[in-house]
Amino acid sequence: MAGDLQWFSASIFAVFGLLIGSFLNVVVYRFPKMLELQWANECAELSGDTQKETAPFNLMVPRSRCPHCGHQIHWSENVPVLSYLALQGRCSACKAPIGARYPVVEVVASALFFYCGWRWGTTAQGMVWCVFAAVLLALGLIDWDTTLLPDDLTLPLLWLGLLSAAMNWTPVDLNSAFWGALGGYVSLWSVYWAFKLVTGKEGMGYGDFKLFAALGVWFGWQTLIPIILLASVIGAVVGITMKFTTGLREGGYVPFGPFLAGAGFAALFLGTSTLQRFVGL
Ligand SMILES: [Zn+2]
Repeated sequence: MAGDLQWFSASIFAVFGLLIGSFLNVVVYRFPKMLELQWANECAELSGDTQKETAPFNLMVPRSRCPHCGHQIHWSENVPVLSYLALQGRCSACKAPIGARYPVVEVVASALFFYCGWRWGTTAQGMVWCVFAAVLLALGLIDWDTTLLPDDLTLPLLWLGLLSAAMNWTPVDLNSAFWGALGGYVSLWSVYWAFKLVTGKEGMGYGDFKLFAALGVWFGWQTLIPIILLASVIGAVVGITMKFTTGLREGGYVPFGPFLAGAGFAALFLGTSTLQRFVGL
């Protein structure tokens, strides 16, 4: 029965999701650049180059600017979804179009949080599943954009899943979570090496193993096979669609992480038992 309280807490979660979605846009855009800067600095240090003074660049600094004209974005132009609508999707200074992905990510994050708030209410479960959804969304987008799945996101996701299993915040016991991590990592690692030995090519990256391991922790080892099958189906559909539209990328490489993330969301919405029945397990 949907009570007023359920609506109320889910709506609070939804508003919070909008704000987190706005933050995720920043994370997705800046995090890969921060890693790149860090690598460049480390390389310079190793080769003994004198460190050149660089302006700080992180999730908070500098303030966001229009990539087209450099117009500094005022807080009133940064309100999730509403600002995009008020500005009619254009920079207030130069009228260059703002990517529609920004408000879409905000709405998706809001919907995910609403779902978690609706299903679990204002509980520890509700909150950890919100974190799960937010990190998974960020990982999917970053991998799609850059073909990177940063350890700084995959590993905390894995550890939070283990903690949540230990605290009974997820429906998975610690034993299944542990074997989920190990099975997820080792299985994709084996596929990677088999593929590499046979074809001499790298079909995926270590980030994929870690993300799969994290999903194994959150949903248990029993769900690993349904997740990998579903991810492969989603990947095949998207890959074929891209081939027949003009969307095929340079080099034809499509990262696997977004499809793993998609399968992870399916497991969140459908539940692990439905997913297992789905593939006849
Ligand atoms: Zn502009």
